[in-house]
Amino acid sequence: MASQTSECDVLVIGLGPAGMAVTIMAKSLGLNVIAIEKRKIGGECLNVGCIPSKAILRTAKLRHAVLHFPEMGLEAIPSPKPINPFARVRDVVKRVNEGKTAKMFESVDVILSKGSARFIDSHTVEVQDVRKIRAKKIFICSGTTPFVPNIQGLDGVGFLTNENLYDINEVPRRFAVIGGGAIGCEMGQALFRLGSETTILNSADCLLPRGDAEAGHLLCEEFRKEGIRVINKAEFERIEKRGYEIAVILKDGSEIICDKLLVAAGRKIKLDELELKNAGVVYDNQKGVKVDAFLRTSVKHIFACGDCNGYRQFTHAAMHQGMLALINAMLPRVFMRRYKDYIVPWSVFTEPEVSQVGETEADLQARGEKYKVIRTNYSDYGRTTADGSEIGFIKALCTRSGKILGVTIVGESSGEMIHEFGLAIQKGLRLTSILFLQHSFPTYSFMNKRIAEQWLMDYARKPLFQRIAKMRI
Ligand SMILES: Cc1cc2nc3c(=O)[nH]c(=O)nc-3n(C[C@H](O)[C@H](O)[C@H](O)COP(=O)(O)OP(=O)(O)OC[C@H]3O[C@@H](n4cnc5c(N)ncnc54)[C@H](O)[C@@H]3O)c2cc1C
Repeated sequence: MASQTSECDVLVIGLGPAGMAVTIMAKSLGLNVIAIEKRKIGGECLNVGCIPSKAILRTAKLRHAVLHFPEMGLEAIPSPKPINPFARVRDVVKRVNEGKTAKMFESVDVILSKGSARFIDSHTVEVQDVRKIRAKKIFICSGTTPFVPNIQGLDGVGFLTNENLYDINEVPRRFAVIGGGAIGCEMGQALFRLGSETTILNSADCLLPRGDAEAGHLLCEEFRKEGIRVINKAEFERIEKRGYEIAVILKDGSEIICDKLLVAAGRKIKLDELELKNAGVVYDNQKGVKVDAFLRTSVKHIFACGDCNGYRQFTHAAMHQGMLALINAMLPRVFMRRYKDYIVPWSVFTEPEVSQVGETEADLQARGEKYKVIRTNYSDYGRTTADGSEIGFIKALCTRSGKILGVTIVGESSGEMIHEFGLAIQKGLRLTSILFLQHSFPTYSFMNKRIAEQWLMDYARKPLFQRIAKMRI
């Protein structure tokens, strides 16, 4: 078949959050955009990541809530049987795809290719040997795939990843997860609450090892109280298929038997199929496409944004980078924006919810920086008692003068509360700015103000301030 060549201003490879942000913005600016997607519009986030995981968590949370009826003054009723919660998940994804997403891309030239896009040279990309696209600016937004650890026997047991977890139809009787990061914790809790006997096999010494250690330990404690089995520092010997069962054998000789095994052990950046070398783009299969401070690759008119450059692999970070990369592609160097200047909060949607922004104690200790810890517990607030959500804390790390360096929040609505601190860190604000902002009572965010009050109280207790107060009153 003769190859057809199209010309455009902007070519986007991959339509996950990063590519969607570039495409929609470029289209709104009246640019001629072509986007190539080899699987489904929406990328990992919409199809096999954030949205399906939140949908299954929601059903699980609802089912779990029944257990708390008596303590909320309601009649105890048995937990409802899951009929097919995964069908709902698929329906949610379908509705988002067919409704919101399809509408956004109605007027965009999207090539839904069966195979990968590949570079011919630094301005030309080919799709399936039949269509060539020449573009002025190219945005690589190709994301990641699940990382599968090298454990003897794993390949032969028919394990699940996030790519096929949502295709199952029944809640397994016994469920095990390899990985104690965000996906492992969210899906471990979701399946447990839907009725699976669940084991999380985590090779680190606490859950969510990239975040605050205290948060990871509290989550582990809560999981165990609920009945989820968490094995930290798990060392794998081998994995075997035994009839319908899967046996995970650990180095200490213990065996975990399950019906379904989810591998959630991190992400892998897969770039070879793009043939980046034809364009002269430098990359590393582990670290991703190499970018400068402005998201430009080694070839200045080619940008790489989102998970494929290896930096902070979250949907909001991918979208933000997409927006910045497009801005940078249009502006002279002096007006370009550095992507690392923007703070990246994150949340894990377990119960208790865990959210983090800025630095952790481990980060600061590694750099030998001095910091103060200001904290407040959820249990000290009337609203959380009213709601029965007293588990959790806010921990803010700041300088002596109240400059905020990092914040961890564990507990109900932490994902909503963290942004105030994110803005404060990004803008270099001190805790006084939060102190003098009235927060409506009794919101969960009111506890953010309590942190600032706490910091002020620490000052007020100093003899010097107490002497001044006595003199001035
Ligand atoms: C289970 C799970 C839950 C998650 N939950 C959250 C969450 O709650 N919050 C959060 O912030 N993040 C979450 N994430 C992470 C989030 O999904 C990713 O950070 C985000 O999707 C990255 O966006 P992206 O655009 O960089 O890449 P992707 O979403 O991976 O999209 C890349 C797209 O490029 C396409 N592509 C790749 N190579 C080619 C090629 N050669 N040719 C053509 N097309 C190509 C792929 O098919 C894909 O559609 C979750 C991830 C998982 C797995």
